[in-house]
Amino acid sequence: MTPCAGTSPTVAVDNALPATPACQCSVADIRARLQAPTDGLSSAEAATRLQQQGSNSLPQARGRSLWRRLWAQISNLLILVLLSAVVITALLGHTLDSLVILAVVISQALIGLVQEGRAEQALSAIRHMLAPTASVIRDGHSQRIAAAELVAGDTVLLEPGDRVPADIRLERCHSLSLDEAILTGESLAVEKQPEALTSTNALGDQSNMAFSGTLVVRGTGRGVVVATGSRSEIGRISGLLQQTTGLQTPLLAQMDRFARLMATLVVVSGLLILLLGYWLSDLPFADLFIAVVGLTVAGIPEGLPAILSITLAVGVRSMARRQAVVRRMPAIETIGAVSVICSDKTGTLTRNEMMVSALACGAHYRQVRGDGYALDGGLNEPLAETLQTPLMLAAALCNDASLQADNGTVKIHGDPMEAALQVLVHRLDGDPVRLAQHWPRTDEIPFDAEYRLMATLNHDHQGRHQLWVKGAPEAVLQRCRSQLDETEGSVTLAQDYWSDMIERLASDGQRVLALACKEHSGSELEMTDLNDLQLIGLVGLMDPPRSEAIAAVAECHAAGIEVKMITGDHGLTASAIAARLGLHNSAEVLTGKQLDELDDQALQDCVGRVNVYARTSPEHKLRLVQALQSCGDGRNGDGLSGKRQGGAVVAMTGDGVNDAPALKAADVGIAMGHKGSQAAREASAVVLLDDNFASLVAAVKEGRTVYQNLKKGIAFMLPINGGESISLMVALLWGHTLPISALQILWVNMISSVILAMTLAFEPALPGMMQQPPRARNEALLSRPLAWKVLQVSLLFLVGIFAAWHWGMAHSGSEAFASTVAVNALVAMELFYLFTVRYPPGQAISWQGFKGTPVIWVAIAALILMQSLFNWLPLFQRTFNSMAPDLPALMVATGCGVAVLLILQLEGWIRGRWCNNHGD
Ligand code: ATP
Repeated sequence: MTPCAGTSPTVAVDNALPATPACQCSVADIRARLQAPTDGLSSAEAATRLQQQGSNSLPQARGRSLWRRLWAQISNLLILVLLSAVVITALLGHTLDSLVILAVVISQALIGLVQEGRAEQALSAIRHMLAPTASVIRDGHSQRIAAAELVAGDTVLLEPGDRVPADIRLERCHSLSLDEAILTGESLAVEKQPEALTSTNALGDQSNMAFSGTLVVRGTGRGVVVATGSRSEIGRISGLLQQTTGLQTPLLAQMDRFARLMATLVVVSGLLILLLGYWLSDLPFADLFIAVVGLTVAGIPEGLPAILSITLAVGVRSMARRQAVVRRMPAIETIGAVSVICSDKTGTLTRNEMMVSALACGAHYRQVRGDGYALDGGLNEPLAETLQTPLMLAAALCNDASLQADNGTVKIHGDPMEAALQVLVHRLDGDPVRLAQHWPRTDEIPFDAEYRLMATLNHDHQGRHQLWVKGAPEAVLQRCRSQLDETEGSVTLAQDYWSDMIERLASDGQRVLALACKEHSGSELEMTDLNDLQLIGLVGLMDPPRSEAIAAVAECHAAGIEVKMITGDHGLTASAIAARLGLHNSAEVLTGKQLDELDDQALQDCVGRVNVYARTSPEHKLRLVQALQSCGDGRNGDGLSGKRQGGAVVAMTGDGVNDAPALKAADVGIAMGHKGSQAAREASAVVLLDDNFASLVAAVKEGRTVYQNLKKGIAFMLPINGGESISLMVALLWGHTLPISALQILWVNMISSVILAMTLAFEPALPGMMQQPPRARNEALLSRPLAWKVLQVSLLFLVGIFAAWHWGMAHSGSEAFASTVAVNALVAMELFYLFTVRYPPGQAISWQGFKGTPVIWVAIAALILMQSLFNWLPLFQRTFNSMAPDLPALMVATGCGVAVLLILQLEGWIRGRWCNNHGD
């Protein structure tokens, strides 16, 4: 089928049928044409159609060509400097130098290319993990499948926060509004209705169609898929939805700028030295030029950008392994600095495996026996039939979940709380499916967190209409006038009794739901019909805290991170669960209503102290994020901390479409992979695949590790360049022979430094890392202590290089031998220095320090192999002008390394004692 552009998807499974715009067809007509039964396609039929129609995905945007990618690698300052060195050295007749530098250029470009490819692979794997899903009816019941598997004829259900997965002809809408800006540019949400249109309007006016890529802002809907993949409207203007996120972060950008600045400085000073040297010294130009090339090569940290992006890529991978998928790269840095985590309760801190454990009906309280979702169980004491039947009807009919018993285990589809109500019906010896068949649904008001209830209108075969309501007890009770009574049928509502009962259930940590009903004459349902209800009773649902969340909360507290619970649940329930989780100050609860009464300043004053927020709506989350970010540190008043500059760094979880503003405003917005809507995922920087708070804390830990490793990478690489370039400058200005040649410096920078630095990306978290407070929001990566360390180690390297060279000269009288000793000394100093970088000052000389990670021993083996080639392979000796070192030379080189280690340890130890004595 080939729909005409700009009109409407047409419906014709078979090309012989005249193609009619879907918006003009009735739903029955569309179902007939697409052979789409109302209870959904069978899985087998869907699989056949998928084969015929192809996947419901947009064609991938073509990546950059190999040449373009190669050019991107070559067109950086370092490579251009090296390329000019290749040309000039060749012109000066230093063919060997020219060839080696050329080899370096090529290998640098290839390494960059491979590494970029790897990073892209990692990111596309992540995109795959976040592939959107869709709710469909297949094989007679609703299920979630990958959106790519949708076919024409599928029946799709839409909920707030969903991205519409294909072009859909709507057949049922309940206050359904879609944001169609992606297609029409119209930013206001558009209301939808199912009636067929008489003419084909512009896309924005096709009120009975939901187009692929648009967003459900409000309400629910159901419809039939009429076009998928590139046949959908968005498919025609494809390319729009290609979301890409590069492996770039503020820190990397900062380091890029820093590296470029250093390169410019080095090149400028090289040129100055060349001019001065030519004018002042009597060195031949060719030698001087080669020396300046050496200086340039020595000063530029060639391997640093690669090491930093590898560290980030390793971090992204380990976070994904711990169920946290990073959608926006900067988050990987920010998450390590988080000082407050605001978390949802249900499903994140608790298991979201609900079970009705108690109920109050009439004036009777009963406990419910049973295990999880197992269907058997019952009440501790029987309940009168006149009470039990309405209770079962409300629980079964005002409910969208379904149960599937499979070999003794029960699988649930839909909301776990509604599934628990269906289980309750079974335990009361009822059958929810039969009840639903006996009382078909005519209309409904879907659950909305704003009014916290859900209502359905059902009629029986005698034509009686009955309205059923379930929801938060405050929301339902205020609409009730009477209550069910086992003998009288109906009596006046006993407000106090129910308030006490709510308190009793909630303070036990149970989620409380009220059930109510009313006879109704019409066949449609409006919010205004929900008054003068008759209360049937209350049910208390247990949703125990996740045991791993209890441990994770304790870990957060130890790491100076405050945890705040923000829930739509009742204050007492929230407080009881918070206490079980070990949240600080769990008894103090701020409700959404109280929050509304506070102005911004008052909220800022109490947001640090209060850790439990109940009966909140998504708008409250936004205010809380802003208050935390602009107040002190957002921690409780138990003296844990002082004020932190720039407010708290806030991680906020969310799942609904209305959570999107808070997720965007938070420093790290975290969406739930399971129960989260597509809108929430798109607004967030990180997606938790298992919705689990413990995974969030694991991600914070990974974030801290990544930051630590980035710092280690910088602390390791910079002094090597510093030591080399200071050595060459000293030699040039002093009129000393260069202790290490340009090619030898390239060897050290490109081989030994990179091999060793690579291991830092895989370093595990330092012991005690999660006992440290979070770093300040604006901490500089190249902090003053780090800059001091770089200078200090550069000077140590300078001394080592010259000492080794002079020893070599005295020992053999050969410059080639002396510079070989100097290179070996430099490599040994790097190796020993690496161990001091891995651990805090003063702790490198420990069994743990020397044991290291497996990857470090692989790197050391590779380093020894490469250095042996440098020392003893004739080809390398000719290329790098090296000479086989003897045993004393190797011992001197190793001695330089050991000396660096000892000096740095001693300094660390003295500094540690000084700080202890001066309370610094
Ligand atoms: P969170 O996940 O943020 O911790 P929550 O899941 O408890 O919070 P909401 O989903 O906003 O918060 O629910 C708020 C209240 O609305 C619940 O405590 C419950 O009383 C009621 N409620 C929740 N889901 C439904 C539903 N499907 N039908 C009727 N009432 C519901």
